[in-house]
Amino acid sequence: MPIVLFRFFHEVKRTCEQILVHLSLIFTLPLLFISQKQTIAQSRFPVDYFTTPIDTPLKLSGGFAELRNNHLHGGLDFRTGGEEGRPIYAAADGYVGRIRVSGQGYGNCLYIIHPIGYTTVYGHLLTFEEPIRSWVNRRHNELQENELDLFLKKDELPVKKDQLVALSGNTGASGGPHLHFEIRHSETEELINPLWFGLPVEDDVCPTFDCMEIVPIGQGSMVGGKASPHRLQFVQDSVGFWRVKKETMVKGACHVQVKVWDKHKDNELRQGIYKLLLVQGLDTLYSFKADRYAHTETRYANSVMDYEAKMLKNETFYRLFRSPGNHLRLLNSEIGNGILYPKPGENTQYRMIATDFSGNQSECSFTLLGSTVGAGGAGGAGNQRTASASASPQRPEIVIQPNRAIKIEHENVRFQLPAGTIYDTLNTRISIRSGPSGALSPEYSIGNARIPVHQYFPFSIRAPHVPSKLKSKVVAIGTNIKGVQNAHTGTWKGDWFESKTRQLGAFYLALDTIAPRIDMQGKLKSDTMNIGSTLQFSISDARSGIKNFHFYVGEFWNKLIWDAKSATLTARIDEHAPRGNQIACLVVIDAVGNEANLTIPVFIP
Ligand SMILES: [Zn+2]
Repeated sequence: MPIVLFRFFHEVKRTCEQILVHLSLIFTLPLLFISQKQTIAQSRFPVDYFTTPIDTPLKLSGGFAELRNNHLHGGLDFRTGGEEGRPIYAAADGYVGRIRVSGQGYGNCLYIIHPIGYTTVYGHLLTFEEPIRSWVNRRHNELQENELDLFLKKDELPVKKDQLVALSGNTGASGGPHLHFEIRHSETEELINPLWFGLPVEDDVCPTFDCMEIVPIGQGSMVGGKASPHRLQFVQDSVGFWRVKKETMVKGACHVQVKVWDKHKDNELRQGIYKLLLVQGLDTLYSFKADRYAHTETRYANSVMDYEAKMLKNETFYRLFRSPGNHLRLLNSEIGNGILYPKPGENTQYRMIATDFSGNQSECSFTLLGSTVGAGGAGGAGNQRTASASASPQRPEIVIQPNRAIKIEHENVRFQLPAGTIYDTLNTRISIRSGPSGALSPEYSIGNARIPVHQYFPFSIRAPHVPSKLKSKVVAIGTNIKGVQNAHTGTWKGDWFESKTRQLGAFYLALDTIAPRIDMQGKLKSDTMNIGSTLQFSISDARSGIKNFHFYVGEFWNKLIWDAKSATLTARIDEHAPRGNQIACLVVIDAVGNEANLTIPVFIP
């Protein structure tokens, strides 16, 4: 199809999608549509419906769909001046639809459902405000659970626009005090770039190009005479214009990846890019645009970025290449997949164009010279740098394709990968070696941990000699990309231990009979504990990991606050705790049921 016609159809398709969005709003919300008609016509989304949830000018420490470890950032991170305890307000009328209390992820988190079909999410909160706070405390005590994930009915906790609902914090997997804010489509849970809703974030700074890499794809391809990624630095010609000084020789096929970021007005922090294109002449070869994606797509981040560089060196490279197994909707794969195959003997110029949400744009050009020496390696299946690095000289036994399910069965090990488990074709074989001392099975491996895996897949290992009474304490030990061991729990079916994982590489079976470790922080000056005073504990578990914990004062269940990033538990003596001389007890249980206890005699006046 000619490119012009192709673009035309693409535009028609986009317009149809927009009309569909409009239609759904017309049918569900006729009155609202009339009042928002003007704004929706301009932006697809209502731009004056949501107010800002904090009372200071919006400064971001994180943007929508930024590339994070194993996920795309689902919303915006608002800076809170390095402090916790800033007031957080409901962005519009609605009701609390979900509350989560967790030491991980979004920490203390509030979901407010709004009548126009969107949900706002407020994460890493320090505390909830009344009446939410009392509601949550009641649920903790009724359920006797420290961590909650509760869904609420419409009339339970209604909120008004600008109502104080919480105080900002640093709970869960947060790297410093801030508010994590999302806007989701309530029905589909699709995440939408909140900037579409007209939130005032000032940005007059154009994106910065830092450096790039050219990565050979497929057998026989080379860049600059080598079969490994080739790094190039830029020179800046003027504001918003960068280029690579010299052309780079490429034999066969390659893709490029770039380190690029944006900054905002009066904000020194680096932000992700809203739109990133790879262009050759008039043709767009690759396109990333941070508009909206489904919750289930978040892990595609590992294929949008250079996974190995991110996980091992914390370097964020946007790959301008769509792997065959990457179905992220932020990529416009109708345009192209970003595979470059420069013509032998010719210089081909390419441009990368980065744009922020306010429309500030930068571009960077580079030239590839096609090698005339035995051009090979057609741009078929793409390789992560790891796949080519680990290519075996032997004829591979197993070919795992990204979009096809495969069952790999061996006498004593089975891997069952559903379609969509990996992003690029992997040629591999099962290898077996004896396990380390104490192992209950040999070590079986497939692929390696440097290859990103999109979803959990089942695997099982046969171990006929494990005594029945020990079976419940068996875990499968794997090793992640950083070389850190991790344990997978599972169930037994006859002689087979069945588990699931989201990593490739080596696995063996071992026992976990060691209870978690508890250390009390600080020494009690006296055993007198007033209501509201706190006890703090560090906890850890060597193998299967912490699964649950409870704190009791006598018979009374007393709530604990868990913080996974510091591995600490905090017990605040509850007002309903029994008075007088009591035995306080902390119980910590790991994933296979090993239990640790710490008892402390206390006097509660
Ligand atoms: Zn965030």
